Amino acid sequence: MVSKVFFIDGGDYTGNSEKCFRLISEKFSGSVALKTHFGEEKNTTHINPEWITSLGTYFKNPVFVDCNVLYRGMRTRRTDHVELAKRHGFGFLPIDILDGEMGEEELEVPVNLGTTKNARLGAGIERYGNWVALTHFKGHIATGFGGCIKNVGMGLGSRAGKLDMHSVVSPVVRQEKCVACGKCVADCPADAISINGKAKIDSDKCIGCAHCIAVCPNSAIDIPWEMLDNTNNALMERICEYAYAALRGRKWWFMNYMVNITYDCDCMNIAQKPFMKDVGIVLSEDIVAADQASYDLISEVVGYDPFKKKFGVDGAYQLEYGEKIGLGSRKYVLERL
Ligand code: SF4
Ligand code: SF4
Repeated sequence: MVSKVFFIDGGDYTGNSEKCFRLISEKFSGSVALKTHFGEEKNTTHINPEWITSLGTYFKNPVFVDCNVLYRGMRTRRTDHVELAKRHGFGFLPIDILDGEMGEEELEVPVNLGTTKNARLGAGIERYGNWVALTHFKGHIATGFGGCIKNVGMGLGSRAGKLDMHSVVSPVVRQEKCVACGKCVADCPADAISINGKAKIDSDKCIGCAHCIAVCPNSAIDIPWEMLDNTNNALMERICEYAYAALRGRKWWFMNYMVNITYDCDCMNIAQKPFMKDVGIVLSEDIVAADQASYDLISEVVGYDPFKKKFGVDGAYQLEYGEKIGLGSRKYVLERL
């Protein structure tokens, strides 16, 4: 199968978003759920809400949706999550956090793919039939890059679902660098770190959220690169399996904003600098084709896969596995919009 992917370059992201919404609206009727990521508190490179204010013009009852996250922060509970979304400028439409106040509202969807028997999604997913993934395409330490597959698969997992997907990756403390300051202990959402002279991670408790890596002032916490290939591939497989559960029985369009492209994801509670120039927006009804095209366009501009070079993780595996389980096609034709 060869899927169609629309591509728009140029810096008018408001006008270009509007072109995409017009095209999607011709095929949608009824209310629309807009799956996006509002950015962690200090993140400034998430999708700029000013680009997408025309959503209300093109869609009937559009609603921004997301689920709560595993780690401590403004997106851990619904009340704070909505408050943060409004603070970041998304308050011009209703905001629906699909897994409840604390992540307790979930729906088990039988998948029986790979290691996922039942995907645990935010229960509110059942409220909507038409979906648009509004995704900021950027790097990710554990999956190489994060596009629509990650936005949908990881993003629509309930808190327990996210734990289920993440539990295959656990960082380690490089003992020689640790000064026992305790910052990682205080930040760990799973109480998985203790200090006995130096910090130590209990891999049985660790949920693989990777926040200790960001919080350590001495860069003492790291992914065990020597074991990474298998664990990261397993994480990508689970994300694809969750995306499969989220897509089934629903009508979807997928948009990747290759704008303000950073190495780290929008979950990092820091302001980041883009590492390359903006590329544009892609739009497709095929989630794999949308991510494949974005990955290809970025690699073409840089001249190589910048995410693989940075993290040593081959993010293209999620495209390969996504295609294998029938999420979509890696083959596409690019059409300028
Ligand atoms: S934050 Fe880093 S230096 Fe501090 S205790 Fe944890 S691992 Fe050690
Ligand atoms: S040890 Fe690190 S990766 Fe594991 S749960 Fe705690 S903060 Fe997250």
